[in-house]
Amino acid sequence: MTEQIPSKVDMDKLVSLCKRRGFIFPSSEIYGGLGAFYDYGPLGVELKNNVKKAWWKASVQDRDDMVGLDASILMHPQTWVASGHVEGFADPLVECKQCHQRWRADHVKDGKCPACGGELTEPRMFNLMFKTFVGPVEDETSLVYLRPETAQGIFVNFQNVLNSTRRKLPFGIAQIGKSFRNEITTGNFIFRMREFEQMEIEYFVKPGTDEQWFKHWVEQRFNWYSNLGIKRENLRLRQHEKDELAHYARDCFDIEYLFPIGWSELEGVANRTDFDLKQHSKYSGKDLSYFDEDTKEHIMPYVIEPSAGVDRSVLAFLADSYDEEKDKEGLRVILRLHYALAPIKVAVLPLSRNEKLLPLSKEVYDNLRSCWMVQYDDAQSIGRRYRRQDEIGTPFCVTIDFQSLEDRQVTIRERDKMRQIRVPIDVLRATLEAKLCGEPFEILPPGARKWLGFE
Ligand code: ATP
Repeated sequence: MTEQIPSKVDMDKLVSLCKRRGFIFPSSEIYGGLGAFYDYGPLGVELKNNVKKAWWKASVQDRDDMVGLDASILMHPQTWVASGHVEGFADPLVECKQCHQRWRADHVKDGKCPACGGELTEPRMFNLMFKTFVGPVEDETSLVYLRPETAQGIFVNFQNVLNSTRRKLPFGIAQIGKSFRNEITTGNFIFRMREFEQMEIEYFVKPGTDEQWFKHWVEQRFNWYSNLGIKRENLRLRQHEKDELAHYARDCFDIEYLFPIGWSELEGVANRTDFDLKQHSKYSGKDLSYFDEDTKEHIMPYVIEPSAGVDRSVLAFLADSYDEEKDKEGLRVILRLHYALAPIKVAVLPLSRNEKLLPLSKEVYDNLRSCWMVQYDDAQSIGRRYRRQDEIGTPFCVTIDFQSLEDRQVTIRERDKMRQIRVPIDVLRATLEAKLCGEPFEILPPGARKWLGFE
């Protein structure tokens, strides 16, 4: 249940920006939509891919103790018996006797139906896994589940990865992929969906070192969000109470974010002990232990699991970067996204549609688009075009004017303080590259000048 402390951004504004500018649409909208399913539009898919890229870089590329995996969504049904999902992955539900809507019992206040105020039934358990069938016959023998988490794909491949990579403990396996849950309480945009994406790590360690690695991962994962621009005051850690912990878990922290709906879970980091590997050993009959060369003993590794949601991260990055400024032309909406996450890195804007500007503008555009996602926009006034880019978080706009035809120099305008520098086209790409990597805007390349907006 979320705590009702209002954040500074309201959800309606985000939803409307996402729809208007092509970040996120309701799924199958022309047929009236499907509850808690969403589609990512042209800008949304770029943002989402950038979130996943940043996670993969921090979790796999920048570490020498991690490898990646991409397991299938449908798995042998025994997987979910072993993991405990068939028996336990259920929420207690209550149903309204009047309007027959179902609610999660722990999400209902004062024992009344949140929709109509009607009387509610006693709670009943409801399994959250979607079912489907493999092959031509639809019966119990062909029943499979759409995975409700990506983690089990990692556990069942533990020996495959170990044998093929000759890894030593500690090491981890990272995976990004779709998960499905037939959630009961939905309605908070992409916060809780029935089809969503997860970014999960299973980090295998020697028993006895688990507490130290647990601390390491809680810190790493918390810092990942703040390094990508989320304000510290909007992030917090919440340790699970003893009665909240799963029976096998030794410890668990939620990384919470102050969403527009209040403080809620963004990611969970859990010490799952040796529960999963032991369960899969038992149910599959395969030995999933690790042979320790030093002690010449077989041990069952402990597991630390940082489990994040791609879509919740996207929502947090959108909410945290959303900003409004009043100016003489009205309201300037800005997404102050970290440069690594911005869907479009650079916009190329000829000052006007005058034909003389076209060849040079296209030359600049072609030169830049091979490096990044770049937009070309020559419609309406330059002021309006800057605003359109601010609203989608584009860090830099490059303007080509009539002077550019004479001196082969162009203006770079940055999003956050709207300062401008004038740089030779020859060094434009290198300059943008340096700025996108974090070089301060006021540092100038050879032949460039400060132009506008500097004090
Ligand atoms: P909640 O209590 O909010 O239902 P959970 O504790 O069930 O979440 P986990 O099973 O720990 O969530 O999943 C790990 C992460 O996956 C969550 O922190 C969240 O970011 C994401 N996630 C889980 N369920 C959903 C969902 N229905 N829609 C979007 N993201 C989700």
